[in-house]
Amino acid sequence: MARYTGPVCRICRREGMKLYLKGDRCYSDKCAIERRNYAPGQHGQRRPKFSEYGLQLREKQKTRRVYGVLENQFRTYFVKADRQKGITGENLLRLLETRLDNVVYRLGFAKSRPQARQFVRHNHFTLNGHKVNIPSMQVKVGDVIQLKEKSKNSPIFKEIIENLGQKTPPAWLELDVENLSGKVVALPTREDIDLPVQEHLIVELYSR
Ligand code: SF4
Repeated sequence: MARYTGPVCRICRREGMKLYLKGDRCYSDKCAIERRNYAPGQHGQRRPKFSEYGLQLREKQKTRRVYGVLENQFRTYFVKADRQKGITGENLLRLLETRLDNVVYRLGFAKSRPQARQFVRHNHFTLNGHKVNIPSMQVKVGDVIQLKEKSKNSPIFKEIIENLGQKTPPAWLELDVENLSGKVVALPTREDIDLPVQEHLIVELYSR
């Protein structure tokens, strides 16, 4: 279960937009996009000229990095999305959106997707009452994700619980603040996924 461990703000600067990978810092003026909104590296301040391939590549990289997925796994998602009925690009986003770590983030139990991933890895949640520590696990309609009893008192969750419910989760998820749980009530549609990506470019890239 590999993951990217390099500097994350650099990723946002490369993509030229906030990917919200660092929680609170992303909303402060310490955010690297607020301070240096140009690509990293020696030639970062030059105006980029993208070829058609370059544009497709950037959309793929951006999407992959938002969800914290490495290349091989991302391609596997694409193959799976391509085999499903419907529009491949939307299928791909749905598969990414229904990862357990993303659901934990969307419900508001974590400040960023990387943090949600760590919480899942560290066994802080149950899925339908069972132990789970696989961030990439796909959730289904009817699944219930709940914060474990013993995790409630940890300082990090105390703060998160205090603010739980302030951010409305997407329509396909139902948050139960009292029981510190969330339910998947539907599968997300494209309209539910507020990600500024043009997924058809990713499909074009992989279809070359
Ligand atoms: Fe991206 Fe957050 Fe870093 Fe800003 S603070 S550059 S949004 S990871």
